[in-house]
Amino acid sequence: MNRITSTLHTALDAEMDKILGCIHCGLCLPACPTYQQVGNENDSPRGRIYLMRAVAEGKLDVQSPTFSRHIDLCLGCRACETACPAGVNYGHLLEHARETINEHGTQKGGGFQKFMLRLALRHVFPYPNRLKAVFAVNRWMRDSGLMKWAYKSGLVRKISKKADFALSLLMTTAPARKDGVMGRQRDGETKTTPQNPKSKIQNLKPVAVFTGCVMEGLFKHANDATKRVLEVNNCQNIQVAKQVCCGALHAHSGDLETARKLARANIDAFERFLTSDHNPANPATIIINAAGCGALLKEYGELLKDDPRYAERAVNFSRHVKDATEYLATGEIRQGAELKEAVTMDAPCHLYHAQRVMTAPQKVLTSIPGVEYRPLAGMQDCCGGAGIYNLSEPEMSEGILSDKIEKVKATGAKVLVTANPGCHMQLGAGARMFKADCQVVHIVELLDESYRKAGFYQQSDNS
Ligand code: SF4
Ligand code: SF4
Repeated sequence: MNRITSTLHTALDAEMDKILGCIHCGLCLPACPTYQQVGNENDSPRGRIYLMRAVAEGKLDVQSPTFSRHIDLCLGCRACETACPAGVNYGHLLEHARETINEHGTQKGGGFQKFMLRLALRHVFPYPNRLKAVFAVNRWMRDSGLMKWAYKSGLVRKISKKADFALSLLMTTAPARKDGVMGRQRDGETKTTPQNPKSKIQNLKPVAVFTGCVMEGLFKHANDATKRVLEVNNCQNIQVAKQVCCGALHAHSGDLETARKLARANIDAFERFLTSDHNPANPATIIINAAGCGALLKEYGELLKDDPRYAERAVNFSRHVKDATEYLATGEIRQGAELKEAVTMDAPCHLYHAQRVMTAPQKVLTSIPGVEYRPLAGMQDCCGGAGIYNLSEPEMSEGILSDKIEKVKATGAKVLVTANPGCHMQLGAGARMFKADCQVVHIVELLDESYRKAGFYQQSDNS
């Protein structure tokens, strides 16, 4: 067996028991968005696993366009995993299949957009200073009056539908609610510090927010809200320096080597925080508010299982990671002021299917007094964002997004909450494209707004 097939075969070997347990039941098919869109068995989980096995067994050439095309078209949403009674770990198989294709060079084509995306993943995301510069330019564009005018007037749409969509993705990263805490924070009018009556209690829970790259670069308002909300809920935020991108986009695109490098850097950065002498009753927790990042952070143990220096440390790191909603929902969530809002929620795939955090976001949402929660049909179905899928596979992505937004409209909610930057941007752009009258907000920002209204925050001395 040559090197290329052996890479994939290793992944299949690890899962072979489960794969052999696959009874071809087809229960994963209705859960698969790409199969639902095109009705082709090769674009279903069962079909893709069959193709991977065919490559691993040398029955199908890894360079076959059939193989790369059907693997490319997979969203990596992992809805097939929650549907599968045999416990097939499809997400890992997909990463290894993509790694195999990358190594063999059949992904070298794909047009200008894919070339630029690959370039950014390899030469920008792993380097914090380059990332900072890129996000600074993006924020400048997003907040410039000229760009806002061109966007709102529909001028960009008249020139190019694709450019308008890309701009929509960016514009939706701005704080959505001008009358709430987020708008004021963005304008720098008010700096706040949490006013927590419990803060005199010694027993504060040590948490460190994993700030992420896209979240810190474009959604700093959500990161800041997360820190404030945690402090109100009796936590002590500890800043951890030298964090880097989590590597999720790299892993999902099959660049596992870069993902491993980034994982090692993050493990190094957080080690001191994790090994500090915390009260055993309040263990140190790494909080993440981006579902895609959270799913990979929780899988660092798997990613580095063959690295003798990091394998154990990676498992320990992952054990301490919790999504912000998951963490808040394990205790009693402090109640803020009433927000009279009709709110619906879309569950990010990597929160619901990959992390299996299924009910915590609703618990957070319904803890806010006055919120009228309107369940979204197919809440756990992918929105079509899937990292950079909306840019690399725009047609399939648009079809999936259109179905999602129609369901959002049917709820009549004016606020749509989510908990992942990719979904946030996709849903915001979709709301504009398919004319849904609703704001997209990170779930923690809504809780933060309720706390501010309740007067839990006070102006800091230097504001
Ligand atoms: S990850 Fe999502 S798109 Fe890919 S096969 Fe599974 S359900 Fe289908
Ligand atoms: S749900 Fe699982 S067992 Fe059934 S066909 Fe899909 S992969 Fe095979």
